[in-house]
Amino acid sequence: AKDAGGNRYELADPDSDARAIDRHSLTNRLPAALERDEFFLEYQPLIRMSDGHVDGAEALVRWKHPVHGLLGPDRFIPLAEHTGLIVPLGRWVMEQAVRQACAWHEERSAASKNGGGKGKSKGKGKGKSAGSGASDDGCRPLRVNVNLSPRQLHHPDLVPDTVAVLEAAGMAPSSLCLEVTESALIGADEDELKPLRQLAELGVEIALDDFGTGYSNLANLRRLPATTLKLDRSFTQGLQQHPADPADVTFVEGIVTLAHALGLAVTVEGVETEHQASKLRDLGCDTAQGWYYARPGPASSFQQGFAVIP
Ligand code: C2E
Ligand code: CA
Ligand code: CA
Ligand code: CA
Repeated sequence: AKDAGGNRYELADPDSDARAIDRHSLTNRLPAALERDEFFLEYQPLIRMSDGHVDGAEALVRWKHPVHGLLGPDRFIPLAEHTGLIVPLGRWVMEQAVRQACAWHEERSAASKNGGGKGKSKGKGKGKSAGSGASDDGCRPLRVNVNLSPRQLHHPDLVPDTVAVLEAAGMAPSSLCLEVTESALIGADEDELKPLRQLAELGVEIALDDFGTGYSNLANLRRLPATTLKLDRSFTQGLQQHPADPADVTFVEGIVTLAHALGLAVTVEGVETEHQASKLRDLGCDTAQGWYYARPGPASSFQQGFAVIP
């Protein structure tokens, strides 16, 4: 079930003449880009390791620049963060992602009513009131993960905007997971954590992204309103070697034990090989994401794809 469709964003990597693109012109273009719908989302599945089911998907933003072509988020998210455009852009991302999750849910319920066959989707749920699909017919909704940048985290509208997006779509808060980097929370005081805490109390899942790369101590971890630790790709890479780097094994083992003791789930990112996947499963990781399972792709790639991935 590996996705064969190469990495279309190699283009956007900061080598070749892409490097020459002026940050300044990209920055200036951002507001118009949002207005002209030049951003779009790809989704990468999150796989439940115990049984290979697709549990959800992470939304990843891309920019279809009229001149420079496809740009990956590393090229423009820092610029948007810098200018503050990340706030409306992030709101747009959340809205799109939540709507998409509702559309998937409808497709999936329809498919299970039709005897569990392939998702016979009638369009993409476009224009339909997503709220209509919110009833529970024994089909668990897919979770959608959305990245939050530090600036969004500190914006006073975060909680009301999130609630509004969920309500407009009729989606249960627990079907949304907000990913916040560990480093964005380092040193956050109780006031700064309040919005996240409020969201967590509403049932929104909170994942600590890039976990293990920051310097947060364990006491800090206990205090954060997180529900999931998302282990950084660098640890997954360490497990690729034969034999696996013992330091990485020990680290992952320790983190999994600790996370589970604190009631947190563990997601691993950057899983590229079967070897890594089975190792991480053995180490007790709950959810995995990476090229081994699927590369990020358009929402439509999920239509056949609520399947089990070995
Ligand atoms: P991230 O949140 O750590 O997202 C995971 C990145 O790893 C994605 O890169 C994904 O395409 C890539 N990836 C997934 N599986 C594999 C794998 O098996 N191997 C390798 N080598 N890479 C893998 P992408 O899409 O380029 O995104 C880069 C970063 O941009 C994200 O890192 C996230 O921090 C940021 N980002 C993306 N979308 C958004 C967004 O909507 N809002 C904000 N604030 N940040 C975003
Ligand atoms: Ca992420
Ligand atoms: Ca990450
Ligand atoms: Ca990262």
